[in-house]
Amino acid sequence: MAEQITPREVSYSDWFVDIVLKAQLADYSPVKGCMVIRPRGYAIWEKIQSHLDRMFKETGHQNAYFPLLIPESFLHKEAEHVEGFSPELAVVTHGGGEALEEPLVVRPTSETIIWSMYKKWIQSYRDLPLLINQWANVVRWEKRTRLFLRTTEFLWQEGHTAHATREEAEEEALRMLHVYRKFAEEYLALPVFYGRKTESEKFAGAVTTYSIEAMMQDKKALQAGTSHFLGQNFAKAFDVTFQTQAGSLDYVWATSWGVSTRLIGAVIMAHSDNRGLVLPPRIAPTQAVIIPIYTKKTVDQVADYAKRVFARLTEAGLSVEMDLDDQNSPGWKFAEWELRGVPIRVEVGPRDMEQEKAVLVRRDTGEKRAVSVSRLPEEIPVLLEEIQKTLFRRAKDFRDEHTHYVEDYDSFKRIIEDGGFVFAPWSGSPEVEARIKEETKATIRVLEFGNEEKASGKNDILTGEPARHIALFAKSY
Ligand code: AMP
Repeated sequence: MAEQITPREVSYSDWFVDIVLKAQLADYSPVKGCMVIRPRGYAIWEKIQSHLDRMFKETGHQNAYFPLLIPESFLHKEAEHVEGFSPELAVVTHGGGEALEEPLVVRPTSETIIWSMYKKWIQSYRDLPLLINQWANVVRWEKRTRLFLRTTEFLWQEGHTAHATREEAEEEALRMLHVYRKFAEEYLALPVFYGRKTESEKFAGAVTTYSIEAMMQDKKALQAGTSHFLGQNFAKAFDVTFQTQAGSLDYVWATSWGVSTRLIGAVIMAHSDNRGLVLPPRIAPTQAVIIPIYTKKTVDQVADYAKRVFARLTEAGLSVEMDLDDQNSPGWKFAEWELRGVPIRVEVGPRDMEQEKAVLVRRDTGEKRAVSVSRLPEEIPVLLEEIQKTLFRRAKDFRDEHTHYVEDYDSFKRIIEDGGFVFAPWSGSPEVEARIKEETKATIRVLEFGNEEKASGKNDILTGEPARHIALFAKSY
């Protein structure tokens, strides 16, 4: 038998960890909370990077790299920023065998070091906008960690942009929110709710935080990406001013935005099943795996046939693997490649060989179809797109089925307890938000755009006071 994984129904968290470990995506590191990303996991990250990087460049951004170590004093320049990050900082106190004059923090995010440089690079409106992204690692000393979803060190991209006007910066923050939404939906096959975070949930140092939120199969929410409008907070902290077109001096307006290796966790949790990983084809490093079905007398011929099919698909530009092993049974190999999440299995046996055919099997539905080899280069891409669509539709149906609108607190508590997303009227009071969190563990995930209009005439779910918002509540990772 191929490796068994814990069924989802028995333990959702063991199921998740089993997939990560047994599909060889990542492994635990000697340092608690850190994670080794193995080649099969890293290849997914490379896919994510390549698509996002293109989308960032299409929206005018350039890549750069800023150092890992940041003078500790930089963090103190923006009061909310340092307060938010202090408990999570890793601090270097010694270097070269000596105590450092000033401790250095390992970047938890790069606003401070980047804005210290923007002071040098921005003088006039002609230097704006400055649209920079970096692909990097960051360290946040998280108390409760979980493979991919929350690790002490993680890989991400962070965009940091500088603008001449408030409007332009706000527009940019929203533009990148929509890039994330589009990427989540079209590439990760993840339907998301999106909007603004409440004051208590926003990024330390931001004026407004926007996020995309996805539902996992245990009906919990996962914040999958954030985009921040930073106002002039960092420009003021680092004294970054510019000469406006009218000749006056003004502080620069800023945004920052990021997604991380958490997205791999999101994909696993949203699409996989009890047989293992299910990957949306657009981010699957291997699109199809060819498995020969040998009989005793046909091993060599069928292996040759499999190699011919492999060459044909590779020439057509598809990324294909082939499992020629003749020790394990076909059934064992099917299970192994299902566990690894390859979207299409191409079975080739003696009878297929005679007819110049192959059998295509979908990872998502198990559906089979026989196709002549000459048609494979056209059929496989079509099938991959069908799988991509099916995964999105399935995830969306699941989310919609478990998303409710309620106006009374008893129903609210019941749904949150059973698992699900709840839209409910909220007065806007942080105390109410805190009490709901304490009583139910649900937090406000986002305030959707235009939610205020829908709240008119409604009453707060907890206190009955007039509501100002229809908020999306859920338990989350
Ligand atoms: P932030 O800078 O806090 O807005 O974080 C940007 C994005 O990084 C978030 O939207 C998360 O998806 C992700 N993220 C935050 N903390 C972690 C972590 N400890 N591990 C993995 N991803 C994270």
